[in-house]
Amino acid sequence: MTPEERNIAENDLVWDFVDELAAIEAAEARLHAQRVELLARAMSLADTQKARIASTDSAQRDMPLRSIAAQLGVGIRVNDRTIQHQMNDAVQLTTLFPETVAALKRGQISRSHAVVMLDTGACLDDPEVRAAFEKVVLERAQTLTSGRLKAFARQLAEKLHPQSVTERYEEACADRRIYVVEQDDGMAQLVALLPATLAYAIMDRLTQQGKAVRSAANATPSAGESDAAGSGELPIPAASDGASAGAEAEPQVVDRRGLDQVRADLLADMLLTGTPSIDPTLDRRSGGLGAIRAKVQVTVPVTTAAGASDRGALLNGQIPIDADTARRLVGAASGFDRVMTHPITGMVLAVDRYTPAAEQDRFVDARDTHCRFPGCRMPAHRCDHDHTHDYAKGGKTEITNLACLCKRHHTLKGATDWTVTQDANGNLEWTTPAGRTYIDAPAPRVQFVPDSGSAPF
Ligand SMILES: [Zn+2]
Repeated sequence: MTPEERNIAENDLVWDFVDELAAIEAAEARLHAQRVELLARAMSLADTQKARIASTDSAQRDMPLRSIAAQLGVGIRVNDRTIQHQMNDAVQLTTLFPETVAALKRGQISRSHAVVMLDTGACLDDPEVRAAFEKVVLERAQTLTSGRLKAFARQLAEKLHPQSVTERYEEACADRRIYVVEQDDGMAQLVALLPATLAYAIMDRLTQQGKAVRSAANATPSAGESDAAGSGELPIPAASDGASAGAEAEPQVVDRRGLDQVRADLLADMLLTGTPSIDPTLDRRSGGLGAIRAKVQVTVPVTTAAGASDRGALLNGQIPIDADTARRLVGAASGFDRVMTHPITGMVLAVDRYTPAAEQDRFVDARDTHCRFPGCRMPAHRCDHDHTHDYAKGGKTEITNLACLCKRHHTLKGATDWTVTQDANGNLEWTTPAGRTYIDAPAPRVQFVPDSGSAPF
């Protein structure tokens, strides 16, 4: 085979790949359309059930939807809130953008194109305007990636939008919030969604403060090499780690942090220890808002706490953190529950900050770490302690009859035909209104076998 022949053969192969991939993509789009229509049908069943409820109480009227979303969710191992969102989106897509669903069914656009349609066009209330928008955007979707389509559709919606920027800012501003996004390697993002003026102002203040900290560090006599972005120290209750930098010189702590690191430390410091300048609670609670301190739970293998192993610990039962930070917290900080676990079996050995009345609660928090409805990860400290067998019907207040349930799933259990039982090991058996059962075991803990054979207990 000559090089030319080989090139032709390989190019033919790639052409085949492209055709095959396009066929798979179109099939996926068709399947997605089916999924959307199914979820919309599930929603209309929920609406039918809701119409039969005489009560005007909104939480009660919401129960059919929640129960159906929960049944769909546990059936495919997806969080029920996610399914409920998808049901809402499905109804919006099928009712507001029927041509988009038809295009999905024909395999002409992808799922992500449909997402763009809904995200950018749902704000258009006038049916005629919306239909015109859909027509133009669908035409563009035939030739554009979803990313480029989004930029185009946004601008078009902006032009067609009946509300002024000011009105929309007011609505968007009501949605300002702060949330945490889990990352790998013991890290997490703290994300604040704020009006742009405040976000830039906060960044500017942190930058000015950070520069001041850095120039103070540079002004210190023996801080010659401090401009390199060093490892940086966490601002957590620092046991005095004598700086090992200058061996012979006087023990001077050299600040090697870069500007980014200083800004991050300042943010954490101010949020953990600062006092808001406006405090409506000041005359009602001693210390006001400034006296409220952060509370998190750290699960530490005994060998790590004792320094015999460098295996990591868990924050709030979910997020792996490094051994040094865990030891520092176990040693010093007062606002942390310390949950000691057996290094091999993962059994909870002890939970300290012990007070007799609260011991049971702490044990249940430590065992469950999150809501015990299948698939839910609402952290334990934001859950209720539910009597699995109802207290009013003779259920006892003991650890084998208590389980963490978030508000949402606590009400779901009480207000619908979902039922649950608990065995001696803390396993919950959930039965759906339709009669299917699902077991939720207490949170499995990732276990590390200690390096040295003998454990220190
Ligand atoms: Zn829950």
